[in-house]
Amino acid sequence: MSAWPPVYDPDYYPAQDEPYWNRAVETMDPQEREEKVILPKLRAQLEYCYAHSPFYQRKWDAAGVHPGDVKSLADFEGFPLVTKDEIRADQAAHPPFGSNVCVDPIRLGRVLGTSGTTGRPTAFGVSRDDMTRIANAHARVMWGMGIRREDIVFIGSFFSLYWGSWGALVGTERLGATAFPFGAGVPGQTERAIEWMQMVKPTVFYGTPSYSLYLAERARELGVDPLRDFNFRIMFFSGEPGAGVPSTKRRIEQTFGAICLDSGSTGEMSPWMSNGECAERRGMHFWQDLVYSELVDLKTNRRVPYGGEGVTVYTHLERDSQPMIRFLAGDISRWEIGTCACGRTYPTLPRGIYGRADDMFVVRGENVYPSAIEDELRAIPGFGDEYRIVITRERTMDELIVQAEPLPGLEAGEAARIQKTLADKLKAKGLRTVVQMLAPGSLARTEFKAKRIVDQRDLYDELAQG
Ligand SMILES: [Zn+2]
Repeated sequence: MSAWPPVYDPDYYPAQDEPYWNRAVETMDPQEREEKVILPKLRAQLEYCYAHSPFYQRKWDAAGVHPGDVKSLADFEGFPLVTKDEIRADQAAHPPFGSNVCVDPIRLGRVLGTSGTTGRPTAFGVSRDDMTRIANAHARVMWGMGIRREDIVFIGSFFSLYWGSWGALVGTERLGATAFPFGAGVPGQTERAIEWMQMVKPTVFYGTPSYSLYLAERARELGVDPLRDFNFRIMFFSGEPGAGVPSTKRRIEQTFGAICLDSGSTGEMSPWMSNGECAERRGMHFWQDLVYSELVDLKTNRRVPYGGEGVTVYTHLERDSQPMIRFLAGDISRWEIGTCACGRTYPTLPRGIYGRADDMFVVRGENVYPSAIEDELRAIPGFGDEYRIVITRERTMDELIVQAEPLPGLEAGEAARIQKTLADKLKAKGLRTVVQMLAPGSLARTEFKAKRIVDQRDLYDELAQG
């Protein structure tokens, strides 16, 4: 194979009418791509890690695996998984970036990180060369979404430690489109966004699904019609599963008159757009030659066959700083193989990422994914886009409560209709639920990832004991 890591020509652009950024790789027979493109990149990445990362030297020696033994992707499935806790512990022991930096600190170009709302934050030290490769990868996926150089890309998410915003920005810049890095999170910013969207008329939106719907709601309150007064033709999202939930997707498309595309793996795995939907909207593709992605059975740590359900495990193929090898992201999905209408031959996740191993909750012995409830709710006309799931325990029985807001200004009796429709639909799915309708505007709004699940069972237990 050619040199590793790959060097991309900064002046390269596909022809304007070319649907692919890299036609050869994107449309290659999947097996051929695994053998000729992915495996050579993987072997080079593994050799690099073993030579430069004390983290992987320790881990792989202990597991009795060695990069030189990997002759096939099946061999690679014998490599141990890396967990988020492991990375956090390694960074605590070797601050600030852990024993997996792999490059001289002088080559680090950017520090990003996780919010650390649930424990020690993870610090990302990203090399300049990695940033360039990430920009190229994101430009490729964004091209597949249909974004072109004429577009103005509004980035409506936090510009802080959050990888999402920066990933969208560098991809936009490499693609040669006009970046409009508006940000989010400052008081009054949503109102200013509404003003600027009418003034500049951006054609592409990036943010979280909940924020786009909140923005639409706020716009309507201000007498602005998102369909008439904004100019979006493509909206792409990450950070929440919503854009892959069919009824949420429909709701966003109807609200803005744009196509709604799902994307995103996780910050650790940047280029995080290696999970990215194409303009056909059949579910996210795993862009396998950018990041090698597996759906794994956690009992065996091996890939599940196409058609099956598994947990996401990701491996970098062209990172020289903090490479992740079989990183257990913990999202649940189902995958399929077969040529998409776009002509790409990557695996597809037809239902997106519909659960997280740690998001799923169990109520009276039933596994419940919040996205399943969201899907039913958003399909009901008159639902006002905000909801919350509360789980309590009355005596010994778990109680599942869904609190939902109707659209403002509905006729009397409409809220009761929504309430009954939802309760019936969930009952048909085997979920006994109490549905409560709240006044419009009573639930907290978010400019980032919505917090929609409140599990009060621990609290109840404490009260009972205390
Ligand atoms: Zn496609």
